[in-house]
Amino acid sequence: MNALVELTGVSKRYVDNPSFAARLLGITRTVHAVTEVSLSLERGETLGLVGESGCGKSTLARCTIALESASAGEVRFDGRAIEPARRRGLRWFRRRAQMVFQDPRSSLNRSLTTEETLARALRTGGGQDGREARHARIVELLRAVGLGPAFLHRYSHELSGGQCQRVSIARALAVEPDFVVLDEPVSALDVSIQAQIVNLLLELQERLDLAYLFISHDLHLIRYVSDRIAVMYFGRIVELGPAEEVSERPRHPYTQLLLAAVPQPDPALRDETVEVTGEVPSPLDPPSGCTFHPRCPLADGRCIRERPELRRVTPDIEVACHRYEETRDPVPALTMVSKLED
Ligand code: SF4
Repeated sequence: MNALVELTGVSKRYVDNPSFAARLLGITRTVHAVTEVSLSLERGETLGLVGESGCGKSTLARCTIALESASAGEVRFDGRAIEPARRRGLRWFRRRAQMVFQDPRSSLNRSLTTEETLARALRTGGGQDGREARHARIVELLRAVGLGPAFLHRYSHELSGGQCQRVSIARALAVEPDFVVLDEPVSALDVSIQAQIVNLLLELQERLDLAYLFISHDLHLIRYVSDRIAVMYFGRIVELGPAEEVSERPRHPYTQLLLAAVPQPDPALRDETVEVTGEVPSPLDPPSGCTFHPRCPLADGRCIRERPELRRVTPDIEVACHRYEETRDPVPALTMVSKLED
């Protein structure tokens, strides 16, 4: 059986300075935002995509949902290639795949009420029902996301951040999709609201058998919501596997550092946490070999010379790291902490 979503060797490149003069003088540079990503998602599954900001997560999401076309590789949905369909308008795809954005307020049209926003989404989905049926469906959508009819006539500036995100989720659900990309759906919200929205998303997934590509920089959140986790660094997947394996027994040093970077709520344990040192390098000046080597406490000469391929190390786990390939030892957290502190 086909996966619902399948990415094969997807890359996205941008020209850094596309002005006519720069092109004429041959001084343009290429930014490799996403490089050779292959992933798949089954129906009803959540694949968590985690990494620091600037690592290519959102670009990959936009290619997956056909808001941008990939420079190379292929995205298939339910066995159908997206790119040829993209040129014909993608109507069928928009009815089956939707996206919820990070900033709910700016993703809603300020000049529309909640009812108008959802009515517009229903029209996109091809719903030709009469006014009464459409109104009933809008009320039903609002109820599904925990909002009552009192919100029908409110504009986005009259809603809280959490309420705006609930309307965004209702808008995504209006077309009855099979697949939703959630791009940092709670990171712009108050901490007190985040858990409510996450639980709403999980409840809707269960009820509607939705597949999610859930994007976040927070590995602990990703672990909570995901069946499998893909860890992304500098435009490439560096570790992929079941959520419990990736978060409990990380094989890639970057995954270990992401785990260590999450603030520890228990004050007694705070001394043992570290921050990922350094920043994601400039995509205009990528490091040689393993792109993580300037920040990796375990890097050696081979890492500087040779880029590690993403290799399958068990039937369901893939890792791109020379050290892991050679030793097959999970990354020792405390060793890494002390090396980082040196
Ligand atoms: Fe670190 Fe080398 Fe593994 Fe890259 S290949 S993550 S530099 S040990």
